[in-house]
Amino acid sequence: MSTDRLYQLIGADGARYTSPTPGTIGGYRKERRYGRLDCKVARRALEHGALYAQQRVFFADEATAIAVGYHPCAVCMPVEHAAWKAGKRGKR
Ligand SMILES: [Zn+2]
Repeated sequence: MSTDRLYQLIGADGARYTSPTPGTIGGYRKERRYGRLDCKVARRALEHGALYAQQRVFFADEATAIAVGYHPCAVCMPVEHAAWKAGKRGKR
């Protein structure tokens, strides 16, 4: 494995950039959802084919994912997901 590999991440402005360090948060662009890199749902979806892989994005941290309008995954981040849902309801 190469040590000088660069990672494609999404910045707080929504634009892609390359980083020498991997992201800590994985995202699914189609549903604007983010979660842990080892999320069960993401892993299962990746096994089902290339479509999900094309929509897979990465963030340096959770704050960046939130900044570009992503919401937490209900499966691997249930606490964050509940808070997001409660906050969404409160705004309306
Ligand atoms: Zn998840």
